[in-house]
Amino acid sequence: ESTQLKDIISHAKEYGFVFPSSEIYDGLQAVYDYGQNGVELKNNIKNVWWKCMTQLNQNVVGIDAAIFMHPDTWKASGHVDSFNDPMIDNKDSKKRYRADVLIEDRAAQYEKEGQPEKAKELVQQMARLLEAEDLSGVQQLIIAEKITCPVSGTANWTEVRQFNLMFSTQTGSVADESTTIYLRPETAQGIFVNFLNVQKTGRMKIPFGIAQIGKAFRNEIVARQFTFRMREFEQMEMQFFIRPGTEMEWYEYWKAVRIKWHQALGTPAEKLRFHDHEKLAHYANAAVDVEYEFPFGFKEVEGIHSRTDFDLSQHQALSKKKQQYFDNDLNAEGKPYGNYVPYVIETSAGADRLFLMTLCNAYTEEEVTEGDSVKTRTFLKLHPVLAPVKAAIFPLVRKDGLPEKALQIFDDLKFDFNIIYEERDAIGKRYTRQDLIGTPFCIAVDYETLENDTVTVRDRNSREQKRMPISELKNYIGEAVSL
Ligand code: ATP
Repeated sequence: ESTQLKDIISHAKEYGFVFPSSEIYDGLQAVYDYGQNGVELKNNIKNVWWKCMTQLNQNVVGIDAAIFMHPDTWKASGHVDSFNDPMIDNKDSKKRYRADVLIEDRAAQYEKEGQPEKAKELVQQMARLLEAEDLSGVQQLIIAEKITCPVSGTANWTEVRQFNLMFSTQTGSVADESTTIYLRPETAQGIFVNFLNVQKTGRMKIPFGIAQIGKAFRNEIVARQFTFRMREFEQMEMQFFIRPGTEMEWYEYWKAVRIKWHQALGTPAEKLRFHDHEKLAHYANAAVDVEYEFPFGFKEVEGIHSRTDFDLSQHQALSKKKQQYFDNDLNAEGKPYGNYVPYVIETSAGADRLFLMTLCNAYTEEEVTEGDSVKTRTFLKLHPVLAPVKAAIFPLVRKDGLPEKALQIFDDLKFDFNIIYEERDAIGKRYTRQDLIGTPFCIAVDYETLENDTVTVRDRNSREQKRMPISELKNYIGEAVSL
């Protein structure tokens, strides 16, 4: 029996990972808050990404650009004109849907029914129609496929219209002096407009990369699948600036690096796949998605795109500021030396999608025998580097100096790791609670501890306990929680 998304959602809510936004007012669609455990898990995902990108790569540095950018940014990037989703309304339910998602769902249905050829054909046909901006063709396809509205059950559709996904607001206090500005729909442009700032002040030589983690906003119409598709979300993007002509080499390089990263964090290879884009975005000459097998099927968690010199050239044209790099090395190699607008390979991952992937992947139910009865044990098999809490310290009982001893250990470890101290309830219950949030180690202080300064350390996955000197704890945990 495979895990359902609803199990993950209720687990996330019940154990302090994710809450619906402003829940006391019945929530806000496609917006979520991270709770006490969720924020730790998400921060860990972001920290590991940041470290792997910047600290482990001599030639990749980070920035933190503002969410608001000059409105021309989004003209240059193409978002004002073409960051659209094709929408269709059902006349009976008055519900609005993304046309491409309706088609995707139909294709998934064909796939389920054992007709992968038909599924592929449909996806390709849709890609061709969108490429040609043939919106009435899209509408006809939806009708021909007899797609019905999940709410009304009818196929009474309106025409298809394009709908821009950017949120806008105004700067300035006086209405007629105000300017429309956008909440950034991607973090990448903050990197592009700072390309020369970083290159010059950091004396960076091509190839080099700029990484950024930050919020992005999209007015997504189909809000579903929990943190998979949100209106306010976080991206972890890296733009790698290279010589024109070397893009395929670097594209393959970053594909390999990124898939290895996902695997190193515990996602099994068979649950990941590459999916080449059917339809290339206006800025790309090669693009691939890293997909993960969610309970609702294989879906994108990260994109790797060869963006050519599209963005920098566009910014150069609109800002009238040269966005070029002077390549000394080309000169030294005896090639005609000069300036060029660099090409770019981008890796673009969603922190919230990786969060959901991590939860789905970690959520484990296993049968365990306790005495005569068989029980289901639920636990999160998180990689220790990602686990919100690294260790929990328990005194076996609340007397005879055990709490004091346990608190000493807690005080000694708290500077290095996010750990917790817990003395309430029976110890079995305390273990269970830690299993549910994915704590890799539980450290119990008992009477023997008072005699010889050893504790028991229980392993989350195997439930095995071993005795260990207190002095070894720091190394033991430290080793497990490093990548
Ligand atoms: P999709 O086709 O699913 O809408 P996309 O192809 O538009 O995604 P990109 O623009 O390539 O996505 O964004 C890069 C990454 O940002 C995605 O791989 C995803 O992890 C994340 N992302 C994009 N949109 C959202 C969203 N609405 N909610 C959460 N994460 C998102």
